[in-house]
Amino acid sequence: MAPTRYAVIGAGLAGLTSAYEIRKADPEAVIDVFEAEDRIGGKLFTVPFESGPTDMGAEAYLALRSDATDFFAELGLADELVSPSAARSLIYTGGELQNLPAGGVMGIPSHSAPVAHLVSPETAARIDAEADAAPIDWQVGGDVSVGELVRERYGAEVVDRIVSSLLGGVYSCAAEDLGVRATVPQLAEALDALAEAGEKVTLSAAVKSCEARRAPRDPGATPTPVFAAFRGGYALAYEALAEKSGADIHLDVFITGVTRDLRGFHLSGQGVSTDGAYDRLILATPAPTTAALLRSVAPEASQALKSVELASSAVVGMKFDSDEGLPDNSGVLVAIDEPDVQAKAFTFSSKKWPHLGERGGALVRASFGRFGDDAIVRAEEDLIVDTALDDLARITGFDGRAAGLSEIYVQRWFGGLPRYDAAHLATVEKVRAGIADVHGLAVTGAWAGGVGVPAVIDDARAAADRVLTLG
Ligand SMILES: Cc1cc2nc3c(=O)[nH]c(=O)nc-3n(C[C@H](O)[C@H](O)[C@H](O)COP(=O)(O)OP(=O)(O)OC[C@H]3O[C@@H](n4cnc5c(N)ncnc54)[C@H](O)[C@@H]3O)c2cc1C
Repeated sequence: MAPTRYAVIGAGLAGLTSAYEIRKADPEAVIDVFEAEDRIGGKLFTVPFESGPTDMGAEAYLALRSDATDFFAELGLADELVSPSAARSLIYTGGELQNLPAGGVMGIPSHSAPVAHLVSPETAARIDAEADAAPIDWQVGGDVSVGELVRERYGAEVVDRIVSSLLGGVYSCAAEDLGVRATVPQLAEALDALAEAGEKVTLSAAVKSCEARRAPRDPGATPTPVFAAFRGGYALAYEALAEKSGADIHLDVFITGVTRDLRGFHLSGQGVSTDGAYDRLILATPAPTTAALLRSVAPEASQALKSVELASSAVVGMKFDSDEGLPDNSGVLVAIDEPDVQAKAFTFSSKKWPHLGERGGALVRASFGRFGDDAIVRAEEDLIVDTALDDLARITGFDGRAAGLSEIYVQRWFGGLPRYDAAHLATVEKVRAGIADVHGLAVTGAWAGGVGVPAVIDDARAAADRVLTLG
């Protein structure tokens, strides 16, 4: 019997993971991966700094759940995983560096004490009185904007100084542009539970119940580090996946169309040279591309997916000869209402990650850009670098120019992350329903099951499973 022919579009984490899973299940498979760029990895991108490999896209992953760690161990990379130092992150607000609030959910507190150093006395009083306000008109299973909800209950300061900075670090969007269920699902579930129990639905009560549900830490146990990263950067993972998938990876091939007939799926696009139809197809591309590629084979799914918008960002990696004067913290998030700072965050990578600290000097990553606010991402490279250095000096007092800037890399991520707004989960459901009848087709990627590395891996494995088991 002829081997089954699989095509995967996109050689980011989702596409490469799918290809790897297909190979595991079907050793005889013909697997072609098509990638528009001249390299694999997508938003995982490790740059060879002279001082060592340095990530310019994702730099870590959430390791509280063990599935991603187990997956990387399966790839033979267990010994390459490293944990962060105990250094803490700060928030820059009101022109000062402050500690991040303890407790709460994504910076949303259940009472004023944890955020009292970040907000005015009026806002603190409002937080503490929230339980007495009229209840939230919460629709069980529905979604609303995080920013609108928190602004309405606690006021603008909590959103602009705290919540948008924390969420923006993950999603490159302000809290207004993100859905509660889409980005803080535990809070949406707590709000559901209050409504279902017939209790008064308030934000403080919902946050309190999230706090109560957090597993108490056994004081004798070694705590699992929250994050993990690769000593040699994410390249270790995407190169291992590419190699172990045994797929033919076609670089510089931009797929523009997919059609289907009795023989299977046909691809068209610049640089495509394939001899024949594919039995199975996985689209592992960003939402707008996936919407375009679904046009002919699943028009309703295509139409639904068009509504997903993308947020752009830029990362500036900077290596300094000296770290004297750099705070002993893992980084700084910048409040969205800071008038004189354009950066949204700095990671003091050499303080956050001991393996990077061992290289000597200082390694700092500056991040810019949010959904709807990406002028700086489009600016001249020199201007981005100057802004990064000026903002760093303003916030921390660390003079990067005087410290000796020995290496620098500017990476722009146009459309780097999908916007998980309040309509997002319903959209994903519509897309999945719209392809349910298309035999042999799966879609996956950061827009589908979550933007974080573990979520992308999970969803890509499910996509591989779908095309493998549909027969
Ligand atoms: C700056 C930044 C920092 C991040 N930091 C973290 C972090 O620290 N931890 C974490 O867990 N997550 C992080 N993320 C999120 C995570 O990196 C991404 O969600 C994930 O890597 C996305 O993988 P993907 O395969 O879905 O998409 P992508 O990486 O976007 O891959 C899609 C691929 O498809 C290709 N493609 C697109 N169109 C076509 C076409 N028409 N034909 C052929 N190929 C095409 C693209 O070139 C790309 O290679 C970060 C993201 C960014 C942008």
